[in-house]
Amino acid sequence: MSTDTAVKMPALYIGHGAPPLLDDPIWSGQLAGWSKDLPAPKAILVISAHWESAPLTLGATETVPLIYDFGGFAPKYYNMQYTAPGAPELAARIKAMLNEPVTDQPRRGLDHGAWVPLMKMYPDANIPVLQMSIPTHDPEKLFELGKKLAPLRDEGVLIIGSGFMTHGLPFLKEFRIEATPPGWSVEFDIWAKEVLQRGAVDELMNYKALAPGMPYAHPTVEHFAPIFITLGAATVADAAPQVAIEGYWMGLAKTSFQVA
Ligand code: ZN
Repeated sequence: MSTDTAVKMPALYIGHGAPPLLDDPIWSGQLAGWSKDLPAPKAILVISAHWESAPLTLGATETVPLIYDFGGFAPKYYNMQYTAPGAPELAARIKAMLNEPVTDQPRRGLDHGAWVPLMKMYPDANIPVLQMSIPTHDPEKLFELGKKLAPLRDEGVLIIGSGFMTHGLPFLKEFRIEATPPGWSVEFDIWAKEVLQRGAVDELMNYKALAPGMPYAHPTVEHFAPIFITLGAATVADAAPQVAIEGYWMGLAKTSFQVA
């Protein structure tokens, strides 16, 4: 991809909530406001908690139907459309820059971890989007992968790791947006923000042993894993991660940040 006119992009870690986020004016507004403050990306690379596949796999590079990978929500959410262009150049660039096997799933559309936040951040759906699988839960390997992808930021690519700062679904008792957050959710969130502020990535990688609120905050870890790709994509020139969104939603921590 041409670097001639590209502005260096940040890398983001975002909470993607669930489809009802689309009707929540507060979180919707926070996502829309955040993207307005960012330089315009040439392309967007999303690594979502909802696609775990090894070896590393790239999704569709042309516009194909979205994936409605959720259950129990209102029928309208199964008709949502987000027809962003595919990013074949970005897919070719990633294959060239990673010295590891990369496979393709040309019919795999964006999952809700990608399209829910993108509908609010880039509602015109005119920026090419590529989705990449999470190939492992190993924080160090994900961090290394992020490092390899870091040069894409100089080429105008917005890298988005999409998960949820806390995701203890089995332990939630109240399914209301304004539900009081459980102790494990608050404790984990405060801990993660403090560790991020110190840039102590090694401590963050050791979250299963060190973080308060575990294992309840992440009984499975796929919603936290993308954070390590985002942090790996940071460079020495970047400041400490900057929190762009915080607060709670159905008791889960919305904390989302950028490195730039
Ligand atoms: Zn999710």
